[in-house]
Amino acid sequence: MSLHIFRSIFAAAATIAAAVAFSWPEVAAQTPTSGDVTVLPVQGAVSVLFGPGGPNNSTSANITVQASEDAVVLVDTGREDASGQFIAAIRRISTRPVRFIINTQAGRDHTGGNEALSLSGRPYGGRAAGAGFLLPGAADGATIIAHEHVLAVLSGLRGSPAVPFRAHPTETYFAPEHELFNHEAIQIFHEPAALTDGDSVVFFRRSDVISAGDVFSTVTYPRIDPRAGGTVNGTISALNHIIDLAIPREKQEGGTYIIPGHGRIADEADVVEYRDMIVIIRDRVQDLMTKGRTLDQIKAAKVPFDYDRRYSKPEWTGEQFVESIFATLPRTTNSASR
Ligand SMILES: [Zn+2]
Repeated sequence: MSLHIFRSIFAAAATIAAAVAFSWPEVAAQTPTSGDVTVLPVQGAVSVLFGPGGPNNSTSANITVQASEDAVVLVDTGREDASGQFIAAIRRISTRPVRFIINTQAGRDHTGGNEALSLSGRPYGGRAAGAGFLLPGAADGATIIAHEHVLAVLSGLRGSPAVPFRAHPTETYFAPEHELFNHEAIQIFHEPAALTDGDSVVFFRRSDVISAGDVFSTVTYPRIDPRAGGTVNGTISALNHIIDLAIPREKQEGGTYIIPGHGRIADEADVVEYRDMIVIIRDRVQDLMTKGRTLDQIKAAKVPFDYDRRYSKPEWTGEQFVESIFATLPRTTNSASR
């Protein structure tokens, strides 16, 4: 609906600000931790919060925080039971209100804090209201933006139980690309048929930081869910898209930083390595399928053996990853999609 209106208002304000001379507000991250939550400045206006357990072990998704002098934008909200710690950690970065929350997917490790973190902020409105869109109520929280398929899952239309109404996305998008503004262009890309049919990748253009959601992880195999519209080839396409958007470190100072859904801050070379790993395992599965092997035979062949030590986790094993690849590759004996 009216996000383009927000965008043009913000854009006009930004043009004036840019004429004055632009500088990011100071990131007030004196102490790196808040409770068990770790705060780390990434680049430009963007920081990341790692949930309890740290970047390599947290069961909560990473939260991306973009802070301008007016507002805070979040990508994902982590696990519900860590919400209080996340709110305290965001306050250390900025005292400005949370205005927008972008959900990269529907998983509860990414959306569990939607209600609490949204209510800790407020929707965009106030002084610029009156231009034909509703002035939100004072009790409303920050605007939650997601692909429309995420709303379908969270509101119970896809078979899983509905979450509380206040945790639902309040703005959905359905186009391949969506944009908003908080002192920099923030592009939201729909990655169709990646882990699910509702994954988003978020690009903070001026800060040169990409928040990848679970399409990219430094600690797990991609958790492709074929029943939710996920496919291995769509996941590879989404990673290729991130690689296209990113600039390597040697070409530009710092280069593009990529925040994975889980794990440590990465650069383009890390995403290339992860993409290559998936392509290698997919090709091994495809090869065995072309030879007519059954799923059980392919599982017995221990296809991802050389990557399991790094990426296989009890909650999403190499074998489950192979099953998800098998389920989404074409079953003909002479097709090798590359
Ligand atoms: Zn996740």
